[in-house]
Amino acid sequence: MTTYVAHALVEGFPGKSGSHGAFGWSSLWLLDDGTRRVLVDAGQPAYIPLIHEGLARLGLEAADVTDVVLTHLHWDHVANFTMFANATTWVGEAELAWAADQPAGTKFIPDLHVQELVRRKEGVERMAPEQEILPGIHTIASPGHTPHHLAFFTEASGSSMLFAGDAVKNVFELATSRVDSTMDEAQSVSTIDRLRSLLVDTSGVLLPGHDVGLTIVGGEVRRVRPQRADIGYFADGGGEQDRSIG
Ligand SMILES: [Zn+2]
Repeated sequence: MTTYVAHALVEGFPGKSGSHGAFGWSSLWLLDDGTRRVLVDAGQPAYIPLIHEGLARLGLEAADVTDVVLTHLHWDHVANFTMFANATTWVGEAELAWAADQPAGTKFIPDLHVQELVRRKEGVERMAPEQEILPGIHTIASPGHTPHHLAFFTEASGSSMLFAGDAVKNVFELATSRVDSTMDEAQSVSTIDRLRSLLVDTSGVLLPGHDVGLTIVGGEVRRVRPQRADIGYFADGGGEQDRSIG
């Protein structure tokens, strides 16, 4: 059986702004089984240096990534698939057809990235729900946030891992089934309930789209590590950033 070790290149943060829109601080995970290096979601444009730094910490570079698997086609999960020259990008067939059908200017849809995924004949694979796309990595239908959102399930070192993308964005949604930002609230709630059951049944860790890993212990949802983010100004001449939230 293929067993992956998971490395967080960027840990997601569940923030939004009343004045400047969604932060788009999504989670970025790398799965490594010694042969493949699979990036789960491709992050937003501001993550380019963070991706290089995160890979360098592992002794890797962008060319070493073999696969990029996309949970859905929102801008903060898709933007950097083009920077991995040797990778196959996996996109949900129905999600891509849906996104390509939206007019330019539709909120959260990165029009040019979607067009490029449609255009590429090589290096892009279409995937379906309930499919083993790579050894040990299975897709799970998880609609609601977008109509054809996919989650990914895999065995990892120690326990199962469930990459929920924005089907479960953060600790609050897993704990309460109350969702912020969904195209179909009833579908989202039913998706969260199914993913929560799978998590409990497999004693696993759920990796949300915008939060640190989550577990359920004795019926209680817990973060596996504290949530934090460092925010500062470009204008203060560099040096240590001392403003933390979360
Ligand atoms: Zn999203």
